[in-house]
Amino acid sequence: MTTTVEKNGRHAEIAGAGFAGLTAATALAQRGWTVRVHEKGAELREQGAGIVLWHNSLKVLKAIDAYDRVMADSMTPPWYETRRQHVSVSHEDFGGMPWRTMTRPHLHKALLETALRSGVEIHTGSEVVAADPRGGITLASGEVLTADLVVGADGVRSRVRDSVGFEQERWKSRDGIFRFLVPRSRAELGEGEWDNVIDFWNLEPRYLRVLYVPCNERELYIALGAPRADEQATRAPIDLDLWTGTFPELAPVLRHAHVSPDPRYYGYQTTLLEEWSRGVVGLVGDAAHAMCPALAQGAGCAMANAYTLAVAATEADRDGIAEALHAWQRWERPITDRCQRRSADFAASRGMARGDQFTLEALETALYDPTNPNRHALALVRD
Ligand SMILES: Cc1cc2nc3c(=O)[nH]c(=O)nc-3n(C[C@H](O)[C@H](O)[C@H](O)COP(=O)(O)OP(=O)(O)OC[C@H]3O[C@@H](n4cnc5c(N)ncnc54)[C@H](O)[C@@H]3O)c2cc1C
Repeated sequence: MTTTVEKNGRHAEIAGAGFAGLTAATALAQRGWTVRVHEKGAELREQGAGIVLWHNSLKVLKAIDAYDRVMADSMTPPWYETRRQHVSVSHEDFGGMPWRTMTRPHLHKALLETALRSGVEIHTGSEVVAADPRGGITLASGEVLTADLVVGADGVRSRVRDSVGFEQERWKSRDGIFRFLVPRSRAELGEGEWDNVIDFWNLEPRYLRVLYVPCNERELYIALGAPRADEQATRAPIDLDLWTGTFPELAPVLRHAHVSPDPRYYGYQTTLLEEWSRGVVGLVGDAAHAMCPALAQGAGCAMANAYTLAVAATEADRDGIAEALHAWQRWERPITDRCQRRSADFAASRGMARGDQFTLEALETALYDPTNPNRHALALVRD
C-alpha cells in the first residue's frame, strides 16, 4: 500500500539502494518529492551478515516509519562483553541507551518495504555513471535524467562522487574481516552468555578476533578479524584448524562458517572528502565517509546523514537547494568526522581489546538524535 503525500513538485534521482539511498529516498518521498532510485545490482538485496544499530539510527527508523518492521526480528543483547586471551575484561550496557542487533537482509528488507510504501520508484540493473552538479545523472545506458536534487549513495566506489571530482583521500587499514551469518546453536557457550555480543580478542602470539553477535532467535553473525598480511588467516574458505585452535569454545559456529558458500575477506576502507556536496549533488553513506567498523557506526552515520539531507533539501527554496546542501554538510559532518577519526584510531591501535572502550566520547555519534530539530542549538549551548 502506498501512503499518499501531497507532492511538492520536486524530483530527486538517487544512485544506490543500500541503507543510505533507501533512507534518503523514503525521507524525501514522505516530504512530497518524486523519487527514483537506481540500483546497479540486478536484485534488491543486502550482502553481508549482521549489523549493530544504535540510538541515532533507531531514531531515523522511527522518523521514517520503519522502526516496527526492524524491531520485529531483531534483539537487544543484555551485554556487550569483551574477552582478551579468553579472559572476560568488560561487560558494557551503554547506560540503557537503545541499541539493537539484526541481520543485514532484515534491515534492508524493512527499509525497502518502507521506501516502496512511501511511493519511491526503484530501478534495478540501472547503473549511474556520472552526475552533474547542476542537477542531472547519466546512466550506463547513456540516458540522461534531470532532477532538482541528486543523491550519491552508491557506496565506497561511488561513480557519482568520482565523476563530479570531489577531492578525497582513501586508505585501507592493516586489518580486515570475514563476515558470516550462521544458525544459532547455543552449544558453543553457556546459558547467560550466548545472548551477549562478545568481542573475542586474541593478540598473542598473533592477532585474530571473533565478534560474536546474536541477531535474533535463529541467526548469529560472526565476524572473523585478521591482518591483511596474514595469508593463512585471510584464506577462504577459512582455515578451520587455525580458527578453532585459537577459539576452541566457538568450534560449533566456526564449522558453519567453514562451509559458507560465499566466504570473502574484506579490508576496512576509509574515505575522507573535502566536501560532501557540490551544486545540487549531495553524497551520503560510504560514498562520503566510509569508515572502519570499530564503533559500528558506518550505517548509523549513513542513515542519519541521509535523513538530515532530505530534511534540509525540503526546507530550502527550489533555487536554494545547493546552498542548503552546503549548510547541511557544514552542520552535520563534524560529528561524523569525529566518529570516523575515533574508529580509525581504534582500528590502528586495536584498542577495543582493552574493554570498557564505549566511553561517552566514543558513544557521541550513537547518542546523537538527527531527528531533533533543536540538535544544533543544543550542541552550541553544550560547547
Ligand atoms: C566489517 C564491517 C562491519 C560493519 N558493521 C557495522 C555495524 O555494525 N553498524 C553500522 O552502523 N555500520 C557497520 N558497518 C558499516 C556499514 O556496513 C556501511 O557504512 C553501510 O552499509 C554503508 O551503506 P551505503 O548505503 O552508504 O553503501 P552500500 O551498502 O555500499 O550501498 C551502496 C549501494 O549502491 C549500489 N551501487 C554502487 N554503485 C552504483 C552505481 N554506480 N549506480 C547505481 N547503484 C550503485 C550498490 O550495489 C549498493 O546497493 C560495517 C562495515 C564493515 C566493513
